[in-house]
Amino acid sequence: MAKRVAVVVSQGQSHHPAKRQLEEEIVASLLGESSVDVTVIPHLYDLKPDGSAILCLQGIAQELIVLSWMFPRATRWILGRYGVLGQEGASLLDQPSDDAEDEEAEIPEPSAELQDALPRVIESIEIPKRKIYCLNLANAKEPSVFVDEIRRIVTEAQVQPLQPIDWLQGKPKPEQVKRMLDPAPGNVEHQGSGNGSVTDPQHDPANVIEETTERRWYPVIDMSRCTNCMECIDFCLFGVYGIDQADTILVEQPDNCRKGCPACSRVCPENAILFPQHKTPAIAGSGDATEAIKIDLSKLFGSPDVDAVEMAVRERDEQLLIAGRETVGDAVGIASRSASHAAGDADDLDRLIDQLDALDL
Ligand code: SF4
Ligand code: SF4
Repeated sequence: MAKRVAVVVSQGQSHHPAKRQLEEEIVASLLGESSVDVTVIPHLYDLKPDGSAILCLQGIAQELIVLSWMFPRATRWILGRYGVLGQEGASLLDQPSDDAEDEEAEIPEPSAELQDALPRVIESIEIPKRKIYCLNLANAKEPSVFVDEIRRIVTEAQVQPLQPIDWLQGKPKPEQVKRMLDPAPGNVEHQGSGNGSVTDPQHDPANVIEETTERRWYPVIDMSRCTNCMECIDFCLFGVYGIDQADTILVEQPDNCRKGCPACSRVCPENAILFPQHKTPAIAGSGDATEAIKIDLSKLFGSPDVDAVEMAVRERDEQLLIAGRETVGDAVGIASRSASHAAGDADDLDRLIDQLDALDL
């Protein structure tokens, strides 16, 4: 029997009607498919660590597709934080357009020597063979784009191809979907710890995880970049970071993080710290190469912008003041970073000049 693929839809934080409609239409279409198990959860980032949604995610062992309103890197490492791991599945939705591809081809990748200079934490983690695909719901407005991509992934995962249903046929009626995403008493079968499923005899049921959530704000570490250098734990004065039994960095007290503060993401030398809800794409997890080169160019030509470490120090001081504590400026937690930063400037410039040479401007 063909494997089934788990599809998890993480709902938007804002309950924006357009967002909710996209989620509903995707789920409605998937209910007619035979090779997927659909689960709807509240916003992934806001979930309680011991809540039923996380337990559900931890119980999924097969190929997993997660749709959320976040960059895939953020989704992947929020899941990773809860031990929901797998090989990284590539989505066509994240591929640049042909035009963009041409432009990106002009930007040289960092040399392998630079990338491999330090071991990454991911190398010490045992990653299961199953794949996890993270799709950003902000990538398209049409539900069919996501449904088609899910079908492609299911085929790629070498499971029984999905039934070729017409996009507009076989969908549950809108009111059925409405009941499914906003389950009222009587429409949901309760299953122990708050899980529900819709009992529509025409279609496979979708699990709807009911969980009350509040908006959270905490750093997420991308372990494929993190080198365990401990700069973040030295810098943060709010007790957010800790180390595990293997002396590996972890976000131990996430809810100690100061709402809106992204300071430590600016001091991490590997850009491994994400704040998925931050307005700046590079901090929210875009992983955009053009963003990186912009930073390098500002170093060469003298940007009026404040240096990243300086900005982080200011942001940390602001939070200390709000918390009724003394400011510390750059006297605490950035010594090693500053030293390497200063020494690194020359290296960065050399690297940038090599990059510009390669561009043959
Ligand atoms: S500063 Fe960045 S690379 Fe260093 S331990 Fe923290 S997250 Fe990892
Ligand atoms: S953002 Fe600020 S408060 Fe939050 S972990 Fe980083 S330094 Fe600490």
